Amino acid sequence: KESLDQGLQKTKEGFLGKLTRAVAGKSTVDEEVLDNLEEALVSADVGIDTTVKIIDRIEKRVAKDKYLGTTELNRLLQEEIEALLVEAPDQGYKDFELPGGKKPYVILVVGVNGVGKTTTIGKLAHQFKRAGKSVLLGAADTFRAAAVDQLTIWSERVGVPIVKKEMGADPASVAFDAVNSAVAKGVDVLLIDTAGRLHNKAHLMDELSKIRRVIQKVIPEAPHDVLLVLDGSTGQNAVEQARHFTAATQVTSLAITKLDGTAKGGVVLAIADQFKIPVRFIGVGEKAEDLLVFDRHEFVDSLFK
Ligand code: GDP
Repeated sequence: KESLDQGLQKTKEGFLGKLTRAVAGKSTVDEEVLDNLEEALVSADVGIDTTVKIIDRIEKRVAKDKYLGTTELNRLLQEEIEALLVEAPDQGYKDFELPGGKKPYVILVVGVNGVGKTTTIGKLAHQFKRAGKSVLLGAADTFRAAAVDQLTIWSERVGVPIVKKEMGADPASVAFDAVNSAVAKGVDVLLIDTAGRLHNKAHLMDELSKIRRVIQKVIPEAPHDVLLVLDGSTGQNAVEQARHFTAATQVTSLAITKLDGTAKGGVVLAIADQFKIPVRFIGVGEKAEDLLVFDRHEFVDSLFK
């Protein structure tokens, strides 16, 4: 809770400061207040479409009970924002528990280089291990030597095994070996890193389909989760990447990184609203502990505190 409040500090400052100014000295929600609200939301990177949706809903509700103080307006806003965030269909990863009784639980991690994909995998390994689970990493981003090296560093740091091959090896064959090894070792969770080069959508789609196919040769219902990692500090760029990846493969959950150090945390709302995919994790720092299980109520609560 504390690290969430700290992690969202910059977003809160920008967002709340503007919201407060938007309603300062007003006791009714008029055109001007709504305009100011709109501006505050857009500048926190909530995005135009989602902002308009929020404002519309507030306008509808305000018409019913016209006189509103700042506190009530804040409450209304909180409710509307929370309603936009998709509730995960299952209990998700609450306390880093795994949904269902599947073993190994296979998480395919996708995303563009530089967004914090490797770090997120390392943090997840750490958190799952802390929650008492056995973890295996699969280094299927074989296009960059650095990707394998960095994942290896995380595997040593956290103390979990890794399946890897030389640079340039077939990513699908690494994934295949990793799943087989996970089954043989009886591990609880397998995290597979993938390459995220963006220049060619068809290529990305082929690569990810191929990886899925080989995983399914071993475990037909896997991957159990396809986690897209997005860099929250890139604002609307992250929205573009989400569009790209959801078109290339079936993404089932999101991790949004680097929310510390950015005032663009509102992008979480834009992405959740536009893609209707649950945000599972948020990154609020570089250390292994700096990955939080996303809870929409806590998130919104923290934004308004
Ligand atoms: P990848 O290329 O997507 O695998 O990206 P990396 O995992 O190597 O991360 C790129 C940089 O972002 C590294 O310097 C990480 O320490 C940093 N990073 C990753 N997640 C976070 C986060 O949540 N907050 C902050 N401040 N930095 C992060």
